[in-house]
Amino acid sequence: MTDTMARVASETDMTFEFPQQLFIDGAWTDAAAGDRFDVTNPATGAVLAQIADGRRDDARRALDVAVATQQAWADTPPRERSEILRRAYELILEHADELAMLITLEMGKPLADARGEVSYGAEFFRWFAEEAVRVGGDHTLSGDGKTRIIVTREPVGPCVVVTPWNFPLAMGTRKIGPALAAGCTVVFKPAEQTPLTALYLAHILSLAGLPDGVVNVVTTTTPAEVVGYWLDSGQARKLSFTGSTEVGRILLAQASKHVMRTSMELGGNAPFIVCSDADIDTAVEGAITAKMRNMGEACTAANRLYVHADVVEEFTRRFAERMAALRLGPGWEDGVQVGPLIDADALRKVESLVRDAVERGARVATGGESPSEGLLYPPTVLADVSPDCELASTEIFGPVAPVFTFTDDDEAVRRANDTEWGLVAYIFTRDIDRAFRLAGRLEVGMVGINTGLVSNPAGPFGGVKSSGIGREGGRWGIDEYLEYKYLAIPRR
Ligand code: NAD
Repeated sequence: MTDTMARVASETDMTFEFPQQLFIDGAWTDAAAGDRFDVTNPATGAVLAQIADGRRDDARRALDVAVATQQAWADTPPRERSEILRRAYELILEHADELAMLITLEMGKPLADARGEVSYGAEFFRWFAEEAVRVGGDHTLSGDGKTRIIVTREPVGPCVVVTPWNFPLAMGTRKIGPALAAGCTVVFKPAEQTPLTALYLAHILSLAGLPDGVVNVVTTTTPAEVVGYWLDSGQARKLSFTGSTEVGRILLAQASKHVMRTSMELGGNAPFIVCSDADIDTAVEGAITAKMRNMGEACTAANRLYVHADVVEEFTRRFAERMAALRLGPGWEDGVQVGPLIDADALRKVESLVRDAVERGARVATGGESPSEGLLYPPTVLADVSPDCELASTEIFGPVAPVFTFTDDDEAVRRANDTEWGLVAYIFTRDIDRAFRLAGRLEVGMVGINTGLVSNPAGPFGGVKSSGIGREGGRWGIDEYLEYKYLAIPRR
């Protein structure tokens, strides 16, 4: 550790050092203008750290380094790249306690969830360590037999990586893992709410032996200035973004100037369909997972629960009982299952969506009232919700589950698809043919069948419609960071 790292002395009794500066060319450095900004703990409002606030000059320095390092990294033998990723995977697990605590402190999720994110996030490095040595090519003949066609795969080039606050570690590793495996360098801008985890990840990559300049991290309170510079420069070749559809649209427009490759993981509005023949135990368990992972602050969160009229009463009662039993509090306390929302705006949004639904006739089966202080919001189930409520067409991003009723499969599919988003859907039924039939008709990139969890490093994560472009994870994830090149050779 260097003297640029500060110790965490918080409400918890854990003490360790973590970086607070920009990471450029393998060195910890202050922002050129010397600015810093506060990172706060959403559970207490206390300032956790004051970290470097990068601007355009820092963005330029970081990108210049990534561009200058690109060729050497692309030329690094795949096995070496693979072993660095593998070491980084092991180091993440060795430092799992520190990483999980940083995630809990800056983002708010309970420590058990944060540990889950650390394992999930680490797995992308292990997976792509394995993919790094399996990037093949192809050889074929032209139709007339006169030309050999040799297809190679090459790194796209320097990548701009921009991530949200809800999975501060995993959203970074899910992009940086395949980028490094493919031979791309990176400039990385994490969310301003959760930069500490991202800086710690850079520290781990450096411990793992990543050469200087391959990954560069710029933390900032002016994302438009920093990312705008990178996209405008013409030097970066790829944008990999996870965040809201609203910001995604802005970045897509900016990336179009230099016709950059893009991977866009955007918002969701997931339908959760419980058929009349569903196993209700499984459906309730699935709803708890799909709704409450990350306090509902997940793009995959069940946003609209469509439950068949025959089972809606039983499902709602049992689901509400489970939701009511979840324990709220600061994430580092033992047994806490629901932490605070990320900030006051998020809390106000959730309160206003619930108020609107209740005014339009929804019945509160549990929750619905926020405690008088702090950013905690209780797990809430709303029954008899009218389809024209605001929360039916909005990404809720909080622990609120509206239950709608349907009477036949066609209606469920029509209503599930009646949204601009298409990230994930969940189906609960005992009939496998029905599950395949419904899955085939749903306009989404992923379907959970009798499960509330689809995120898996081995699967292709991503959406259709306004939920994005591209897939992350599995053997597909590395494709986003590779270009085809074809060599035509006359056959004599
Ligand atoms: P956000 O879009 O506000 O911010 C995401 C990132 O973009 C942050 O790093 C932010 O600093 C940056 N940013 C914001 N404005 C920018 C601008 N003008 N120019 C450049 N960068 C800018 O999203 P958020 O609130 O951090 O995250 C929540 C959103 O992320 C939700 O919509 C959620 O569905 C989505 N999300 C999607 C996935 C997925 O894989 N599909 C995963 C997690 C989160």
